[in-house]
Amino acid sequence: MRKLIETLWTPVACDVCGAEETALSTLGTRIGRIIQKHHDYTWRHEDVQCTQCGFVFNRLRPTAEFLHDYYTDCWPIASTSIDIVPDFDVAVRLELLHRWLKPKARVYEIGDKLGEFHTALLKAGYDVAGDDVMAESSERGEWLDGLFRRGCVAVPPVAMKQAFDAVLAYFVVEHLANPRDWLRSMRGLLAQDGVLVIEVPHLVRHPKDALMHEHFLYLTPESLSALVQEAGYEVVEIRDTGASRVFGFYLVARRVETSPLIAIEPLQDQAAELQAAYQRGRALLNHAQDNLATSADLITQAVEAADTPVRVCFFGANQTATEIATHIGVELKQKAIKILPYDNSDAKTGTHLEGFELSVKKPDPSEFHPSVLHVCVICSRGWTQAIASQIRQFGLPRFILVDGASGELLPNH
Ligand SMILES: [Zn+2]
Repeated sequence: MRKLIETLWTPVACDVCGAEETALSTLGTRIGRIIQKHHDYTWRHEDVQCTQCGFVFNRLRPTAEFLHDYYTDCWPIASTSIDIVPDFDVAVRLELLHRWLKPKARVYEIGDKLGEFHTALLKAGYDVAGDDVMAESSERGEWLDGLFRRGCVAVPPVAMKQAFDAVLAYFVVEHLANPRDWLRSMRGLLAQDGVLVIEVPHLVRHPKDALMHEHFLYLTPESLSALVQEAGYEVVEIRDTGASRVFGFYLVARRVETSPLIAIEPLQDQAAELQAAYQRGRALLNHAQDNLATSADLITQAVEAADTPVRVCFFGANQTATEIATHIGVELKQKAIKILPYDNSDAKTGTHLEGFELSVKKPDPSEFHPSVLHVCVICSRGWTQAIASQIRQFGLPRFILVDGASGELLPNH
């Protein structure tokens, strides 16, 4: 059995305008269980809307230790069995930056994951520094401590004494338990006229992505603008669409020395729209849950209709796989059908996943037998098509492809 990590969740005031508890009206509560490398983690939400400024967010924040442990326990996505392409548009990111930065500008990228964009920035001639919670680094411990304990001052020691022309934060701000302090601390990293470049999920356009369990802030251009203005920046560019990930928007803010004007009215004006977007996001999340049940039905039907031996093979060892496998588990076990978890990630091989008796393996085409019907259930957020091609290339005479998250069959060729 895997260990479920719980923590203490503390209510906070409005991140944008500072309004206290009595000004926050509850929109909904929810609890999620997220699987990481060694443990599972409980995420709690009390989603609220601020009646003063209109901002929608999760008012519950976990302890610094919980966030530290959670992000150090994240799955790395490195793989030696499949090519993993970045889940963002590298060219779009670079093009947006070129217009703000001089050649050879000094750039600090926070949250650089595998370093794909880091490499692209170096190739483009920028002088780049960066760090990530998931990176292997001797300084990571101290850096994480800064991000989550010392008021989100996420500055690695190496970058402390330098002034950057730009700080880049792609899909970071929505994860921060203390965004105001973090934004102020980033200001200290910037040279005069230096810019902060942010991408975050857009609540109104993509409410389901915005409401992911790890997110505290459900942002729009209006609320992010108010947040960065409050921290000592002026907003110089906003793109409602055209960020490097389809569900995001893009904002550039310049460090200013005088107190900037904080425009709260645009956010107040969209209060009703934000509430509606939140409800739409919750409905979509419920629908996603229904899709998992549909996938379980598809698998059971395929097993029942088969006139040959069957194996049910999951591709992607994650929460989606666990939930579908749990749905079908009892019924298929009675029929002695093998249920196998596969994953292309190097780090997941050999681990145990809730809902499965066997441990996670890398997909090996030689193990897929021609006389067996393989019901292949793909459970992936961003790489469904890549995994489908991988399975098609096995050259199996008999197989069925199920997209686990959408509850739909995929074509065999
Ligand atoms: Zn507020």
